[in-house]
Amino acid sequence: MSSTVHWQPDGVPASLRYGDIYRSAAGGLAQAQHVFLHGCGLLADEGTPTAWAGQQVWQILETGFGLGLNFLATWHAWLNNPQRPARLFYSAVEAHPPEAADLLRSAASFPELAPLAEQLAAQWRGLLPGIHRIELAGGALQLTLAVDDARSALAELTGCFDSVFLDGFSPEKNPAMWSNEVLRAVARLCRPGARAATWCVAGEIRQRLADCGFETERVPGLAPKRQALIARYMPVHASSQIRPPAPGRCVIVGAGLAAAGLAYSLAVRGWQVTVLGQDSEPADGASALIAGVFAPHISPDDRPLSRLSRAGCAATLTRVRALLRENIDFAASGVLECHAPGQRRCPADWQNAETAAASALSSPAGAELRAQTGLPVDDDHPALWHANAGWVRPSALVRAMLAAPGIRFIGDARAERIAPHGGGWQVLDQAGRTLAEADLVALAAGFGTRALLDASFVNPANAVWRLHALRGQIAFGSASQLEAQSLPPFPVNGHGNFVMLREPEPIWVTGSTFVRENTRSYTRAAEHVANRHRLAELLPRAAAMLAPQWQDGRAKAWAGVRCTVPDRLPMLGPLVWPAATANAPHAPWVLTGLGSRGLTLAVLAGEIAAAWLHNEPLPIERSLAHALRARRWSEKNAARKKLAHLPEQ
Ligand SMILES: Cc1cc2nc3c(=O)[nH]c(=O)nc-3n(C[C@H](O)[C@H](O)[C@H](O)COP(=O)(O)OP(=O)(O)OC[C@H]3O[C@@H](n4cnc5c(N)ncnc54)[C@H](O)[C@@H]3O)c2cc1C
Repeated sequence: MSSTVHWQPDGVPASLRYGDIYRSAAGGLAQAQHVFLHGCGLLADEGTPTAWAGQQVWQILETGFGLGLNFLATWHAWLNNPQRPARLFYSAVEAHPPEAADLLRSAASFPELAPLAEQLAAQWRGLLPGIHRIELAGGALQLTLAVDDARSALAELTGCFDSVFLDGFSPEKNPAMWSNEVLRAVARLCRPGARAATWCVAGEIRQRLADCGFETERVPGLAPKRQALIARYMPVHASSQIRPPAPGRCVIVGAGLAAAGLAYSLAVRGWQVTVLGQDSEPADGASALIAGVFAPHISPDDRPLSRLSRAGCAATLTRVRALLRENIDFAASGVLECHAPGQRRCPADWQNAETAAASALSSPAGAELRAQTGLPVDDDHPALWHANAGWVRPSALVRAMLAAPGIRFIGDARAERIAPHGGGWQVLDQAGRTLAEADLVALAAGFGTRALLDASFVNPANAVWRLHALRGQIAFGSASQLEAQSLPPFPVNGHGNFVMLREPEPIWVTGSTFVRENTRSYTRAAEHVANRHRLAELLPRAAAMLAPQWQDGRAKAWAGVRCTVPDRLPMLGPLVWPAATANAPHAPWVLTGLGSRGLTLAVLAGEIAAAWLHNEPLPIERSLAHALRARRWSEKNAARKKLAHLPEQ
């Protein structure tokens, strides 16, 4: 158990930090149901419809997750409501997440919640400060956990909430949780009419809620509490929160990881998605890579790419576990990252308070792991072990995502440009023929996105895309079962990488090269040699074993073109588009720039884009999502340059 939760002799969980209890011995669930679920109308008396009945989507915000009792009670109520919303988003703030063992111990007192707690505990790890997404109930229930003090956490949360559970330690013990700033931040996240509930009826808190636009009412509490509070958000001024668009038709240009990730995330939300690829089959471009690594990027300052890649690994793991065959199409094997001696790469604070959370994700690799690669186990060969990482066959992932209901793939459909049409968009080929029409258009065509943007704007010189080509080549070949046993059982990253696939037949993959502004995808002999040298540096024993394959030509090569952006972050979201298209319902969207991390980032990027479009809680921090905006370069230049105009119809 953690130092966060102190279990009293009477079985009551308490916090020594705040000097308060999380809940009473056995009455905790009844209180949760009475105060929060009844208070927000999510549990109702027989014959009375619940507030969320028949809704497609419902969003709940909680200010103090604690031991997850309100969450588990909500999950249970949702499961048992035949009219439950199809998708439930539950976002919660927690400054000091408990250990998984504490969640389980707390839920053990409530038999109906215990099985749910086990599912939650299975994904409860690596909760460093920041936003974490945990997908449950096959993706229909999305828990977004903001780990930080309430004020900072709420500033990074996004969404348009229908219900709010104001919980946490009492205002006397934890005044910061009930401050004006925190309640204002809660109000900012509410839709007009949203209902809030709390056990706290203090006059001062009611006044603060009223100041933030809530109409409050004291209602009978559940013994031993005399009263509880319900509140409705009724802002005087129109809120900036708007209801999301109804799902319609979307056409996505591109049929690689980026397009498939976006198509999947939109289809899950009810969109009819047409995916256009220039080849006859999907997963043709860089996503035709035989297999590659998904792993977090580590940096001493935990920069945006590092945080994004951590969230990306979690999202990729959840998706591949749901859609692909383990050990054939992917493996959640962990990844060993070799680095130079003395290179301190993890953030310094990972050594201190957050050691447990950080080490569940990335930690110095022990001797046993390093020995499996054949590398000497000494201080000259340090390595990190990324536990939440592995390998995947991108083409399998693309196909599996495109197989989701609501998605139609059209091959041999090379797009030339997009143009507004009616209230939506047309995708046109070189001859000006319409390939597809839809309410929303998204360009997810890898480096091909740049040409599409250039052709769709009259004066591309004025528009700022900042998309660049980065050619890469890998080497690959077969291995005998015996050879495979002597090769590393998990991917090894460093200056280059090595992946060993074992089923259905052993195949090794190594690479890769990086050639800037080169858009040729044919293979080159010089790069084949470079990959051999790279492997010899990374894994001398594996290189020696596979050397004959290079000599007799069994080692094959494959090349592709990555699409990169100068800040190494993906580009996603709506473009700045001239006012002439104001009648189009949505500006065109872009999702590209996945660089050399498409396997880590594509699933997450698709989820971010779809959640953004729907005003749902994002699976990452608001500030991080802001850094990914497709229009970031245009915005920087907008003051200096006037953006281009659309072509004549
Ligand atoms: C050698 C190499 C090794 C790599 N290794 C790794 C790795 O280990 N881990 C990792 O995470 N990433 C790796 N990557 C990067 C990863 O492959 C890419 O980030 C990812 O595949 C990009 O996906 P995408 O959908 O954006 O682009 P692509 O996969 O290139 O897809 C672009 C799609 O757009 C379509 N298209 C383009 N133009 C048009 C048009 N005009 N009309 C219609 N369709 C069009 C194409 O047909 C294609 O379907 C590697 C890349 C290379 C080249």
